[in-house]
Amino acid sequence: MTIPKYFRPDMEQKLDGLSDLARDCSYSWVHGADEIWRELDAEFWAQTRNPWLVLQAISRARLEDLSQNEAFCEKLRTIVSAHRQALSEQRWFQTKKRQGIALRKIAYFSMEFGLSEALPIYSGGLGLLAGDHLKAANDLGLPLVGVGLLYQKGYFRQAFDADGNQIALYPSSETSDLPVCPVRINHGEWLRIQLLTPSRLWVRVWQAQIGRIKLYLLDSNDPANHPVDRCITAELYGGESEYRLSQEILLGIGGWQVLQALGITPEVCHLNEGHAALLVLERARHFMNAHRVDFATALTVTRAGNLFTTHTSVEAGFDRFSPELIKNSLGLYAKALNIDLDTLLALGRNPGDNNPAAPFNMACLAIRGSAAVNGVSRLHAEVSRNIFLPLFPGWPKYEIPVTHVTNGVHVPAWDSMEADELWTNLCGKNRWFCDPDHLAAQFRHVKDHDLWNLRAQNRSRLVQFVRDEYSRELNVHSTLSDTELEDLVLRLFDPNVLTIGFARRFATYKRPNLLLTDPERLARLLTDPHRPVQLVVSGKAHPADLPGQRLIKAWHQFIRRPEIRERAIFLSDYDMITAEYLVQGVDLWINTPRRPWEACGTSGMKILVNGGLNLSELDGWWAEAYRPEVGWALNGHEAEHTDAQQADMLYGLLENEIVPAFYRRNDSGIPERWVAKMRESMTTLTPYFSANRMVREYTDRFYLSLADQYQRRAANGARSGRDLARWLSRLNDLWPKIHVAHVEIENSESVYSFRLQVYLGDLTAEDVKVELFAEPTYGDADNIYEMRIDHELPGAVNGFVYSVEIPAKRPISDYTPRIIPSHPDVSVPTEAQPILWVK
Ligand SMILES: *Cc1c(COP(=O)(O)O)cnc(C)c1O
Repeated sequence: MTIPKYFRPDMEQKLDGLSDLARDCSYSWVHGADEIWRELDAEFWAQTRNPWLVLQAISRARLEDLSQNEAFCEKLRTIVSAHRQALSEQRWFQTKKRQGIALRKIAYFSMEFGLSEALPIYSGGLGLLAGDHLKAANDLGLPLVGVGLLYQKGYFRQAFDADGNQIALYPSSETSDLPVCPVRINHGEWLRIQLLTPSRLWVRVWQAQIGRIKLYLLDSNDPANHPVDRCITAELYGGESEYRLSQEILLGIGGWQVLQALGITPEVCHLNEGHAALLVLERARHFMNAHRVDFATALTVTRAGNLFTTHTSVEAGFDRFSPELIKNSLGLYAKALNIDLDTLLALGRNPGDNNPAAPFNMACLAIRGSAAVNGVSRLHAEVSRNIFLPLFPGWPKYEIPVTHVTNGVHVPAWDSMEADELWTNLCGKNRWFCDPDHLAAQFRHVKDHDLWNLRAQNRSRLVQFVRDEYSRELNVHSTLSDTELEDLVLRLFDPNVLTIGFARRFATYKRPNLLLTDPERLARLLTDPHRPVQLVVSGKAHPADLPGQRLIKAWHQFIRRPEIRERAIFLSDYDMITAEYLVQGVDLWINTPRRPWEACGTSGMKILVNGGLNLSELDGWWAEAYRPEVGWALNGHEAEHTDAQQADMLYGLLENEIVPAFYRRNDSGIPERWVAKMRESMTTLTPYFSANRMVREYTDRFYLSLADQYQRRAANGARSGRDLARWLSRLNDLWPKIHVAHVEIENSESVYSFRLQVYLGDLTAEDVKVELFAEPTYGDADNIYEMRIDHELPGAVNGFVYSVEIPAKRPISDYTPRIIPSHPDVSVPTEAQPILWVK
């Protein structure tokens, strides 16, 4: 890595480790490390939150000073030695029993990563989740690498004109200002690779560090490229579909090539959303060449090690590309896979979709190329099973193979200094490095006044932040004198007032204006002289989303009212820093998405550790988390109310329950009911909705078994993989020949008996399962019964009588016999979709 030019060797000894620390994103959440950067340059640190930049900007004299400052050096030594120890010590994964499964590397692919404000390569929830995944993987000692893109301009930055219209700005980052360094190989040359695209794109590779986790970031801004190609990684979620496809080629195809060039051969690839789906092709292509097998065989083997996580609740959320675009961009690539273009296109379409204009869907490709698929909350998996129904023709909705792993947040990254202290006192320092099952029992003993103190400390820091931001804005927009300004700023907000936060992407499905449905009622709530409320709103709307921008403008207009101005603020440019102050400072976090469109939502989880409470629609994670003891729910699980009715309920809850609970104090000035909810929410929800739990769940349920399955298929020159590929191809060819000749159904009082004559043709009895199926409408587990061979049919090849007797618990007409594929090493229907219903 490059040492800042001021960093002289004679300081090396005293300030040893400083530059490693500055570049390591895992230090963005260590509260002690903040003090180091603050001491280097308090103002620049507060403005940028970028240690790497602070270190580069500092004067030689200041560094010299600090190297003579014993207290500073001591602090640094402590942190650096903890840092070095953390890199090598045994964590959860090292001590975990793994049943002899070799899981040496997991590669996590994502279009965006929200790691710290110093590395602005994220837009919102998806990126933050990816960042938190890497951070928790580091805490738990997982052998994981991240793969993403390095954007010169990142996502747009938000400003407003005097009328409250959003302005999108694209300041670009100097790569040298970011905590990344070039990846160098062999003799120190910078790792560059060239892609198999028509323009033979050159890709450069950078590396960010999150403790023991490396994140490889690709960019196309290589001077060897055509100017058009150099801009491919300029913006996140900018441009048209051709631009997007180029980025996804870079991420999926380029990403896998980079891992190869570095000698990294992951057993498991985790696709965070469909953007990286092309990776499944490149991974297969590489396997083809290494083992001299055809594409279908290579995909059968490598698929076993791919996991696809979907994050969208609507069909329109997936990336879809026109067939012409795919042909132009990937025609050459199809040749390298030794398949024709139609075969390639079919991988991104629903089965049997022969419309030549049908788009190529990246989620489709991701599912075809993965052994497992998951949504990000229980409700979202249900929604996803609906969305992906057409991919599995004939299969009942509840058997569509999409399960869920509910998201979680990296708790140490979002807790405040005071919350960290409180949790440390009760649960110990290393509480997030292991399985946090025991935390609830320990934290439950927290005292009322400690909880209430925590709120006061966190809330006042948010109030200070709000005032600072307001004053910055006033300085830009107004002509007032300094004292007038100061006066205005001090009148804004009150550290003892119930503080509500509302920040998110301003997309219409999130209904960011539900709270604004009746402005007069909201105004009364905020300005109540005895029990006032203050409100912080923040969020961006995509530059192309005009309805979303109108919603922001409506908030601006509301907040501009003279009586509201001191009680509400819209913070511009919602980013990780704003989010940090908000989730630490608010008493109440409101979320009002239109159910079931919020796949999970994570911002409400970030407030848990800090003692904030949630009021939310029962959508995404809150549908799993909510109990009356931990917060408030808008709209019941089953209820379907209009927006107006829901707004009315929202105001009602605030007026009649929430505000009174906050202001009803006991003799010591503590709101007991409020604090009881805080304790219950912090104790029971924080450990579960953490990235720690999420990453352990991914490991236990997917990473290990996928690695095992992949290795079995790949072993011995892919012997078992070749067999499986042959079996699958035979199955699909021969399936249409199966037929059923004679069905006999008998029913008595207590049992039904079913007998079928089944002719399997060239398939054998081992290749199939014959079952009796009923929709699980009564929540019954035994809605599927396997039918057994009663005897062989004389004079038939692979002809059998199958039979079963079942208890007569439901109407007999509920049951339908069916035939499905069966193989001990194949997951059905993920990999084998044929199904025959005997109607
Ligand atoms: C957590 C977070 C999000 C995602 O929050 P949602 O609950 O999904 O809306 C978006 N932006 C920032 C800056 C965040 O910190």
